[in-house]
Amino acid sequence: MKYIFVTGGVVSSLGKGLAAASIGTLLEHRGLKVLMQKFDPYLNVDPGTMSPFQHGEVFVTDDGAETDLDLGHYERFTSGVLSRMNNLTSGQVFDSVIKKERKGEYLGKTVQFIPHVTDEIKSRIHTVSENNPEVDVLITEIGGTVGDMEGLLFIEALRQFALEVGKENVCFIHVTLLPFIKAAGEVKTKPTQQSVAKLRELGIQPDIIICRTEADLDEDNRKKIAMFCNVEKKNVVAFRDVDHTIYECPLDLRRDKIDRLVVDRLGLGATPPPALDDWEHFVRRVIHPKHKVTIAVAGKYIELQDAYKSIYESLIHAGAHHDTKVNIVRVEAEAIEDHGAKAVIGDVDGILVPGGFGDRGIEGKILAAQYARENDIPYFGICLGMQIATIEFARNVCDMRDANSTEFNKLTFYPVICLQEEQKGIDDMGATMRLGSCESIVFAGTRASDLYGGADRIHERHRHRYEFNSDFQDKLQEMGLVISSVSAKEGLVEIIELPNHSFYVGAQFHPEFQSKPNHPHPLFAGFVKASLDRSMAGV
Ligand code: GLN
Repeated sequence: MKYIFVTGGVVSSLGKGLAAASIGTLLEHRGLKVLMQKFDPYLNVDPGTMSPFQHGEVFVTDDGAETDLDLGHYERFTSGVLSRMNNLTSGQVFDSVIKKERKGEYLGKTVQFIPHVTDEIKSRIHTVSENNPEVDVLITEIGGTVGDMEGLLFIEALRQFALEVGKENVCFIHVTLLPFIKAAGEVKTKPTQQSVAKLRELGIQPDIIICRTEADLDEDNRKKIAMFCNVEKKNVVAFRDVDHTIYECPLDLRRDKIDRLVVDRLGLGATPPPALDDWEHFVRRVIHPKHKVTIAVAGKYIELQDAYKSIYESLIHAGAHHDTKVNIVRVEAEAIEDHGAKAVIGDVDGILVPGGFGDRGIEGKILAAQYARENDIPYFGICLGMQIATIEFARNVCDMRDANSTEFNKLTFYPVICLQEEQKGIDDMGATMRLGSCESIVFAGTRASDLYGGADRIHERHRHRYEFNSDFQDKLQEMGLVISSVSAKEGLVEIIELPNHSFYVGAQFHPEFQSKPNHPHPLFAGFVKASLDRSMAGV
């Protein structure tokens, strides 16, 4: 197996994850089998207990790991399906070392950062390699910025790892920033030089330097970076700001032939250049769509770009599929409480209520669902958004006045959403929800069945504690709610829908984690189509 390690320098938020994912795309399009993973040097065991304000979205893998949102990029940019083994945090590393120490596994030795913590990190890389023998290239992104104290053990582990597996099998890529100083009218290379110097001080000479830059990278600056960072000029790669969409990133990196540099460096040179037609086709449809729809996303973490990352990406995939630009209006659910649904979302073509926790903005979301239902506006509820649709239907159609989820009102007379027995009494917050992929049955003759192309079994990823309360199932169904999917094992409600509506669908799972460019998730595709139909009809 060959290894690529992607580090970052100068500042965070450089698009290091996108750079890594784009390299994955390019190598995969050269016919190589790629696997991607992320190392995060923070002490949380996983981001599952972190606020979206801290960390953006929590991405959930098939096997139920709560991971960094970069894993979402990896899955969207490559065909790989990732697992809990593909996101390692310092929290996990230390947890494992301390557990071994308590069990006496270190045989009385003094347990130290080096070698015990670094060995733990290296052994994870070996385990992932051994578990995936078919993979040609394992790409690992290291979170944080080189020079941070908390990243030092990871960097040291990589240095040792490269020596052990042979330097010819390892490619170090360092992503840095080239700031443009307006007053001087110049791009500056010094921060890059210093960041690479820092990395070399730690024993790692990068093979390729990716320079994030607003404008292009001229020959003089390439030469300068090459000279002072000790790499060949051709290995200084520009990563320009893309104009329209992140899916242009692989195409941009391809301009400096990064994939060629990597395969040459790793001795994989015989692979053909990447055939990127499908990717280019997708990007063209994103950039030059024929139609346009406006969709409101009514949530709680709306001001934060990254909190609903996979949902926004899924809307782009579904839009491209229908040759449509999806104009996303981000709505604070609380604004609907203050000003009413008509004033805030009165002229959108579709309304999406995403997942969430805690009661802030709940009543605003319920108003949004009611407005969509009563005015035949396409509605798509995801996880909490499905629970919201259920509560709204119970309250306003079934006359269960104070219907609620017990997450928000423990004393409600109509707990239409409630905890399952096995969730009661759980005090630990980390990794205790219903997590990961599970099989569900889709009932024939429903809209869900149509959308899934008639499939009667589906696999979707979950991340929630509360469930549709089966005690109320009959009553709600009697009043017209259709349950179109239930989990195969426990019979838990997975999808609800309303017939005689342009599109009113709620999913207890998170479809956004399985949408990809050129493979939009069917529920997103259906929702965008219904919104487009509404917009074209000029309603
Ligand atoms: N808070 C709800 C629950 O725990 C919904 C979770 C979500 O939307 N991801 O069930």
